[in-house]
Amino acid sequence: MSDQDKNARHAARMVRKKAVIDAAIKQANQEKGLLLVLTGNGKGKSSSAFGMMARALGYGMKVGVAQFIKSRKDTGEEGFFSHQPNVEWYVLGEGFTWETQDRERDIRTAEAGWKLAQQMLKNPGIGLVILDELTYTMKYGYLDTTQILADIAARPPMQHVVVTGRAAPQALIDAADTVSEIMDIKHAWRAGIKAQPGIDL
Ligand code: ATP
Ligand code: MG
Repeated sequence: MSDQDKNARHAARMVRKKAVIDAAIKQANQEKGLLLVLTGNGKGKSSSAFGMMARALGYGMKVGVAQFIKSRKDTGEEGFFSHQPNVEWYVLGEGFTWETQDRERDIRTAEAGWKLAQQMLKNPGIGLVILDELTYTMKYGYLDTTQILADIAARPPMQHVVVTGRAAPQALIDAADTVSEIMDIKHAWRAGIKAQPGIDL
């Protein structure tokens, strides 16, 4: 086939493709606040959430972040985002459960954290709420999944919510609009490389 024929075939294929895509775009015409879940064992859940945060801020939206479980206040994301206008940033955890080793304390911490999250979920001025590592509070039963889902469902209609963390419970997946499971294929940590600032924290 000559280059000219190849080009003509390509152009014809693209015309057909454009018609299909334009029709699909026309059909997807609803607007609503989304619930997104980023789960799985691979790296990239929280960093994806912070990528959406950058997008939302780019549109002038207000963004609220609640970091459950995590205790450190010197991550790169906090260093950058918490000082930006339009950002509310809360670090609500006291470390992973194998660090605190105190279930009662973990429950109290999670409950206090959820009270702050509830305030953001009631505030229509906040366009995006990120509940980072929330899944662990459900997995370990620190918070009541039914209550969490009820509070999320009752949020302002145009507010988006992103939940991150491994082992998302099925009820959360069922309630969500968009769910991505990030698969762990390889991680540098297993080759003995410690967490790298700017990449891992
Ligand atoms: P990130 O914040 O980098 O997007 P994540 O939110 O997907 O990661 P978490 O389970 O919250 O993953 O863990 C955060 C930290 O653990 C990061 O330093 C990350 O690089 C590391 N990590 C994530 N997945 C793995 C893995 N499969 N093996 C080892 N370390 C991991
Ligand atoms: Mg994470």
